[in-house]
Amino acid sequence: MPMGHVYSTGHSWKAPQEEKEFPPYDKRSGEHFWVILVAYKWNPGTEGETILDKDNFMNVNGPGCYYCEMPYSKLLASKRCKGEPK
Ligand SMILES: [Zn+2]
Repeated sequence: MPMGHVYSTGHSWKAPQEEKEFPPYDKRSGEHFWVILVAYKWNPGTEGETILDKDNFMNVNGPGCYYCEMPYSKLLASKRCKGEPK
């Protein structure tokens, strides 16, 4: 589900050296894990300081659940997450 507008604060920050891990699916809680995926075109040779702006912006998709891969809706959010799609 593409989003209509993307806003930026114009701030920059140092990216963490280690990736944050996604929490594993917990079938006891059944909680969805909502994410928004943002894509920028990247060119080799810009390692170290990558500028993410409208010049290399490609698209935004979501929000959707990282576990069940379903797009967000109030109805889905009110139901338990079933985990990986089958
Ligand atoms: Zn889910």
